[in-house]
Amino acid sequence: MTAADAPASQALFDRAQAVTPGGVNSPVRAFRAVGGTPRFMVSGHGPYVVDADGREYVDLVCSWGPLLLGHAHPEVVDAVQAAVARGTSYGTPTEPEVELAEEIVARTPVESVRLVNSGTEATMSALRLARGFTGRAKVVKFAGHYHGHVDALLAHAGSGVATLALPDTPGVTGASAADTIVLPYNDRDAVTAAFAEHGADIACVVAEAAAGNMGAVPPAEGFNDHLRATAQTHGALLLLDEVMTGFRVSRSGWYGREHVAADLYTFGKVMGGGFPAAAFGGRADVMAHLAPGGPVYQAGTLSGNPVATTAGLTTLRLADDDTYAAVDLAADQIGGLVGEALTKEGVPHVLQYAGNMFSVFFVDPAQVPEVRDYAVTRGQDTARFAAFFHAMLARGVYLPPSAFEAWFVSAVHDDAALDRVAEALPAAARAAAEVQP
Ligand SMILES: *Cc1c(COP(=O)(O)O)cnc(C)c1O
Repeated sequence: MTAADAPASQALFDRAQAVTPGGVNSPVRAFRAVGGTPRFMVSGHGPYVVDADGREYVDLVCSWGPLLLGHAHPEVVDAVQAAVARGTSYGTPTEPEVELAEEIVARTPVESVRLVNSGTEATMSALRLARGFTGRAKVVKFAGHYHGHVDALLAHAGSGVATLALPDTPGVTGASAADTIVLPYNDRDAVTAAFAEHGADIACVVAEAAAGNMGAVPPAEGFNDHLRATAQTHGALLLLDEVMTGFRVSRSGWYGREHVAADLYTFGKVMGGGFPAAAFGGRADVMAHLAPGGPVYQAGTLSGNPVATTAGLTTLRLADDDTYAAVDLAADQIGGLVGEALTKEGVPHVLQYAGNMFSVFFVDPAQVPEVRDYAVTRGQDTARFAAFFHAMLARGVYLPPSAFEAWFVSAVHDDAALDRVAEALPAAARAAAEVQP
């Protein structure tokens, strides 16, 4: 890809690089892992996005998960416009926050919930609460899981940390990383052993309810339940991070697919309807430890913002059983098309789902029939992914610009969008096949 392919995006990227580190406000957007010019988007409608050069793409990123109903859903836009016209922020409680909290409590096992602005803030706050509640310091996390850029949770994180192949992040002090125990995902024995050694000091075990930040890697049968049982035995809390899966893989998130009740949950992405809104919640007795009723401090000037909560609430109210059926179907169909095209060209790959999130791993299925942990995802052929990505991009399909991310669809990825994906695939599969391993 050269600048000539996307002159308007390239011009914007040049300006951006002059005033912003790497030209982006979140690292994975920069196309570092795939090369080329990041596309600057100017609009979106339904399953499509349009870039600054006027090119339209079928969007398989959906803002990294939030857009369950597609871009610019008319009812969400109307509700947001009405909310903005009334006023944008008061720094007081408002009714939409109560309604959104009620909706979350109605859909999930959460009894009490606090709204924040980002998934990072949600996991950071939930971790502080778990430590404050238990009076313990240590936290167990899994390699390849991403919980936002929380200092204590960045070790062996997925998402952009994996994409850029960063070692431990400078700026995270030994003190904030020292209490973090990182274990291989889906390894029950490692969990048992860590708790046997450190159980009395562990405040919580935190896991993505189903991993989506190293590609889609669901928990092995019984794994989340093992986390719950082990934490409980040792007086620690289970924190399931549903920032990505929440309200996306079912109306009650991953919990709707696997009924393992955690003590604490985090949510974000879909619940903000495309605006910055996130939440953490769980057992009422644990949440009662938060200020103002309890001693654990947590706050936010724009938390529960009326415009953001209106967007989230409208999205959740529209997300009914038909919505989830449509998202599941689109994910099945697109995944099926991708698998077919790659198989036809003899490209070794493993196509894997976690609910309706999915991804293609360029690994050899003869050696790795199923991707279960980070060590395997690290080993995939990223050059192959880059070739595949650019061939799709050139044919009007926007994939996550990293081999370490899940793909997302919406309820409005219809036959026309699927046709466009199907048309792009044969050439992309050939491009992947041409890359020598
Ligand atoms: C995206 C994500 C986060 C971080 O959310 P931000 O809003 O980007 O801070 C945390 N946990 C998981 C599982 C995520 O997918």
